[in-house]
Amino acid sequence: MKIAVPLERQPGENRVALVPESIKKLSGAGVEICVETGAGDKAGIPDAEYAAVGAKPMNRASLFQGADILCCVNRPEPDDYPRLQPNAVVIGFLKPLDDPAGLEPVVKGKLSAFAVELIPRITRAQSMDALSSMATVSGYKAVILAAAQLPKMFPLLMTAAGTVPPAKVLVLGAGVAGLMAIATARRLGSVVEAYDVRVAAGQDVKSLGAKFLEVDLGGIETQDAGGYAKELSEEALQRGRDMVAKHAATSDVIITTAAIPGRRAPLMLTEQAMAAMRPGSVVVDLAAGTGGNCAWTKPGETVVRNGVTVMGPLNLPSTIPLHASQLYSRNVTSFLALIAKGGALTIDMADEVVKGACVAFQGGSLHPKLAAALGQPVA
Ligand code: NAD
Repeated sequence: MKIAVPLERQPGENRVALVPESIKKLSGAGVEICVETGAGDKAGIPDAEYAAVGAKPMNRASLFQGADILCCVNRPEPDDYPRLQPNAVVIGFLKPLDDPAGLEPVVKGKLSAFAVELIPRITRAQSMDALSSMATVSGYKAVILAAAQLPKMFPLLMTAAGTVPPAKVLVLGAGVAGLMAIATARRLGSVVEAYDVRVAAGQDVKSLGAKFLEVDLGGIETQDAGGYAKELSEEALQRGRDMVAKHAATSDVIITTAAIPGRRAPLMLTEQAMAAMRPGSVVVDLAAGTGGNCAWTKPGETVVRNGVTVMGPLNLPSTIPLHASQLYSRNVTSFLALIAKGGALTIDMADEVVKGACVAFQGGSLHPKLAAALGQPVA
């Protein structure tokens, strides 16, 4: 069985899907692991480190030839798919919900594809949860970016020249990224407040030493069975925004992470709330890629208005490529243990984790959104 790891071609991408540590684990009788030359360079992993654990560096054409499993971070390039043999497996962030039509070559080439973002977030699959891994990196980096931009220090300082008060940080959305942002901001010594529509998040926020802001939403259910936020009514959203606006006016830094899977991110920082922020304050909007939580966000850009800096980064995990690759690689390796054993593919579509992540199986379009985009029946 040949496992292939390409050099990521997406502009600005520095991660690599498998790191040498995982390759050591995956290697064994009947398994050949091939890595495109330079695949790990931007993450600080030279070809020699791959070769040292038995992986074979090679050019892209040779890499795809005869591969059984292609492990990617992002989708392969359109001209990569025809290089794969029928029934080959592609694993990665394949964007099945954002751009299902872009997966047409998977169906045409009779390939199987597993999207890591669809892996069910159940306890058994925690070690495969690439969304959580990348959200952890993003939450950390968002605070580091804000700290570097803020014209203040984060901690309370008692110096001979007098006292320096701590920075005030507000985190909106206390899921995986939000909690990591809270933890990082606390470690840097700031005073942190956080808001989430899920009341259950309050416990986590408080355990990190931050204050949980609560809004009276009239007792409505805000969390679905999967533990995610539900889409709220306009009135409930507005109550949240009003409370956020009050706290925004006195915050030095706001990190926004609010999201609802498969939907546009909710607007949480309105024009009025932004206009009331103090010059010098900083907003890092982690929802920039799905519409943004802040009215002033421009995806992929940093804008300064009224002296307030608003950053809309689109791929923060790529800015910490070594650790992001390491975590992702461990997630992929855990998933591979489900679908390949003893040097052969052992795809069990009765397994809810395998089925949940499957976008297409041997060319049949399985995911309803992909089937609909391609005008084909769900196989
Ligand atoms: P996410 O990225 O989809 O959303 C981030 C946060 O935004 C969530 O906490 C959500 O409640 C919040 N949010 C949405 N709309 C909001 C609004 N209008 N106002 C304020 N906050 C709003 O979520 P995530 O970080 O991927 O995780 C969400 C949930 O899934 C959490 O409960 C988390 O603990 C759970 N989870 C479970 C597992 C597991 O069991 N394997 C793994 C990861 C996450």
